[in-house]
Order: sequence, then C-alpha cells, then structure tokens
Amino acid sequence: MSEPSTETIYLTDSYLKETDAKVIFLENEKVILDKTIFYPEGGGQPTDLGKIIFMNNEYSIKEVKKQDGKILHILDKIPNFKTADSVHLILDWPRRYSHMRYHSALHILSKVVYNEFGAQVSGNQIYADRARMDFTLENLTPEIIQKTEEKANEIISQNRKINILFLNRDEAIKKVDLQRTRIDLLPEQIKIIRVVEIEGFDVDACAGTHVKTTSEIGRLKITKTENKGKGKRRMEIKVE
Ligand SMILES: [Zn+2]
Repeated sequence: MSEPSTETIYLTDSYLKETDAKVIFLENEKVILDKTIFYPEGGGQPTDLGKIIFMNNEYSIKEVKKQDGKILHILDKIPNFKTADSVHLILDWPRRYSHMRYHSALHILSKVVYNEFGAQVSGNQIYADRARMDFTLENLTPEIIQKTEEKANEIISQNRKINILFLNRDEAIKKVDLQRTRIDLLPEQIKIIRVVEIEGFDVDACAGTHVKTTSEIGRLKITKTENKGKGKRRMEIKVE
C-alpha cells in the first residue's frame, strides 16, 4: 500500500473556505484526506478549526496536526463515513483570516525591527486576537516601540502585494537575507522552498498562511512589552 499523502491547499490558496475531499485514512476520530484546506498547527500559527460534513452529519474539527509527515484531522466524534467517501470541508474562516492577518503582521514587524535596530527574532506565537514576537534586544525603549509601530504601519498602508513563491534552493538562497533566514541550513532533501514576499520590502521562507495585500492587516499596535531575560524582549501586537 502506498503512503497516504495530502494535497495542502492552504499553502497555495489561503482563501479557499470550502471544498470537497476524499477520505484516505480513518482511525477512530482521526481522519486523513486526499486534500485539505485546514492548516495544521506549526511555526507559531495555531491549528485551523472547522467542520467536515458527510450526508446529514456534521463533525467539528478539534485539532489539525502534522504527525510523521501526515496531516491528521481530529474530530469531535467517530464519524460514520468510511475510507474513499467524499466529504465536504468548511473552514472556520474568521479564525483563519485573523491568523493570516497576524502572520503577515509579524513578518512586517520582524523586518522593521531588523532594519531599524538590527535585532533578530527568537520566537513568535499567533493567536486569533493577538500575536507576540521575541527579539534579541537589550533595550526596548518607548522610542523603539514608537518607531517600530510607525514604520510597520507605513508599510501596511502602502498596500503592498504579498506573494507566495515556490523556489528551488538556489533561487531561494539568492532571494532571502541569509542573516535572517537560514535556508542554507535546511535539510538537503528539501528541494523546493516556499517563500513569502512582501513586494519591495521583505522575502522570507515560511509555511504559514498570509493575506494578499498589506492593507488587509489593518492598523498595527504594540500593546505590551516584556523583558524575557538573557537579552530577549517580547512585543505583543494587535491589529484592528
Ligand atoms: Zn511566517
């Protein structure tokens, strides 16, 4: 038997909210599909939620996760469909769209802080109503916060396009800033690298979901800062 693998539609079309898919593996509440619009938790972006519909039955997705290279959808109950059945997928779009806006916002934030203050990112987490990013920064003064907010909102308001590119290693290495994105350190077997380009501003390797233009992000506000010790400073943001 060949290994079941799933077409990851969310990587090429982050705006697809519904589609049909075929069940290729089933074990209790765990489902693997031939294709999916649901993002599995990873890279600081939380799991998508949503529903799987079969006949008149509706199943809520509690979690989507990657396990041994497969994408598992965990349902709220054992479904009545079987392998090879066709099911309908409905994404919890407000939640996902929020993740997209915050993910794009974090890319802008990280580039602004790097450009202006030379700081690297040491961690990040997205939520549906906020996001945070940790930087290797000794000091986080009110001036730095103000400047960061100003610059980020300037980029956002320029309504720049956000493009998703699939590049081979050599092309990707030429395009990204290797000081910030160590794609030269990615395992050799990864031949194609997904890159998120904010036109004329930033290029970064990323497997998350993004909005199509910066203006979709909305106004960015740094709502909280925290000293995480060891030269790490955290910024929490909201977009509205
Ligand atoms: Zn990203």
